[in-house]
Amino acid sequence: MTRPERTTAQRALLAWPLSFLALAAAAAALFAVRPSVDKAHVALVFLLVVLGGSAAGGRLLGITLSITAFAVFDFVFLPPYYTFAIRDPLDWLVLAAFLITGIVAAQLLARADERAEIARRRADEVQRIAMLGAEALSVGRAEAALAAVARVIQSTLAVACCEVLIQRAKDGAYERAAAAGACVGAAAVDAASLAAWVARAGAAATERADRTTHLEPRADGAEPALASAQAPAWLVDDDVRALLVPLRVRDRIVGVLRVSHEAPIRLDPAQRQFLEALAYYAALGVERVRLSAEAERAESFRQAGQLKDALIAGVSHDLRTPLTTIKALAHGLAVRGEADARSIEEEADRLNRMVADLLDLSRLNAGAMPLDIGFNVADEIVGVALQRIRGLRGDRTIEIDAPRGVPLAARCDQVQAVRVLVNLLENALKYSPPETPITLSVRQRGDRIEFTVADRGPGIPSEERERVFTPFYRPLNARPDVGGAGLGLAIARGMADVQNGRVWMEPRDGGGSVFRFDLPLAELPKLDAPA
Ligand code: ADP
Repeated sequence: MTRPERTTAQRALLAWPLSFLALAAAAAALFAVRPSVDKAHVALVFLLVVLGGSAAGGRLLGITLSITAFAVFDFVFLPPYYTFAIRDPLDWLVLAAFLITGIVAAQLLARADERAEIARRRADEVQRIAMLGAEALSVGRAEAALAAVARVIQSTLAVACCEVLIQRAKDGAYERAAAAGACVGAAAVDAASLAAWVARAGAAATERADRTTHLEPRADGAEPALASAQAPAWLVDDDVRALLVPLRVRDRIVGVLRVSHEAPIRLDPAQRQFLEALAYYAALGVERVRLSAEAERAESFRQAGQLKDALIAGVSHDLRTPLTTIKALAHGLAVRGEADARSIEEEADRLNRMVADLLDLSRLNAGAMPLDIGFNVADEIVGVALQRIRGLRGDRTIEIDAPRGVPLAARCDQVQAVRVLVNLLENALKYSPPETPITLSVRQRGDRIEFTVADRGPGIPSEERERVFTPFYRPLNARPDVGGAGLGLAIARGMADVQNGRVWMEPRDGGGSVFRFDLPLAELPKLDAPA
């Protein structure tokens, strides 16, 4: 298929007439001096011609020359001349020795030639693989590296086209990620669906010129044996025009390699093994494309996140000053008896709270939340939190369930711990019917203190239970008249996190939600007993 192979074949063809010409010339020359030459001279000269022919034209020419020279030897140089009969029985020995030496020499030369050819091919393969590695590593962009790998495979196997097919994320269909050579011709069969089969089965397949598809037979559980020494019949078929091989990285199939040619593709076991090595490079190329796409996506997410954090920090900061002014002006108007001033003040307060939440969120995201970690008694955290929700609570019942006796203490920042608890209590008040009670319990669980806020509200569907902790997330069915921008739970979780606490939600038996908030338990210093 390749250029060197073609010139070798041409040379071998030319060796035939030349060798016979040489044999004829040698015979003529020896004939001219027949009376003065010995049998041994004839044998040696003919042997020389046979060896030359074998070296230039291969085994078949060597053997044919040996037999021809044997006949000429007998006919022209052994008495009685011009018959194949032999006078001296010892001459049979000379002839037989000549024939055997000629044939064995032809065989040995051919074998050495084959070995040299195999060694040349291995060296060529090693060079190709090295080239593949260099191409794959030196090209900056992952897509360009994959295209380079496809180019090397196409030229190495001397096929018309080499394509790498990978699965599209949006619908799972297979499409071309890289191609080299003339891949324009219409495929005999639907290459994409065959590629999907190859990837699913993890086995190779061929397309034939008669538009049929042949799939690699696979014993159950056995590895597909593309490189097995015994070529499966479907692979050495004369009619194979395209070969599809799954691309594997460890145990994962990352794509499919398809090589196609206008003439039959025939690969011997060594070439198939080589194809597997090449396919591994293609698989690595595909993996690199995937990883770099993922890295690009992660980077753009990171940049978008940074932009959002900067925006939140900037906007919330800039809103503070005008809000304070509005509030002060509204307060002044309210004092002077202006009717609508009170509601302006209330709205300014609401906006102020939202801006404060935004500022907290940006501080949490930036890891800049000021903390003052210390021993804090749980009763005190609960007491301050209840104090803070007094206005919103009105006359709603909040049942407190805390152990009596030795007070529990947490290692935390009291202000932040109170804010977490206040957020949970406010949500319970906002989202549960006014006539239902809310339960606030405190428990020690191992080396942690757990605060629980349980309500009889609508609860949160299981698929939303984690999402409600992301900033700005409000479920679709959230009441628009209740709650704010969807920041409360995100801030609660962030604040718990920075003091090694956790916040999570569970459904409550009999309906409603249970929000749990835990903190590391603090061992209170033991007081010495009085003597
Ligand atoms: P906000 O209350 O401002 O909307 P949150 O982050 O506090 O923001 O809450 C996010 C969403 O979680 C709320 O919109 C609400 O739908 C839901 N949610 C929070 N607490 C409760 C609760 N106790 N019962 C039912 N739903 C709740």
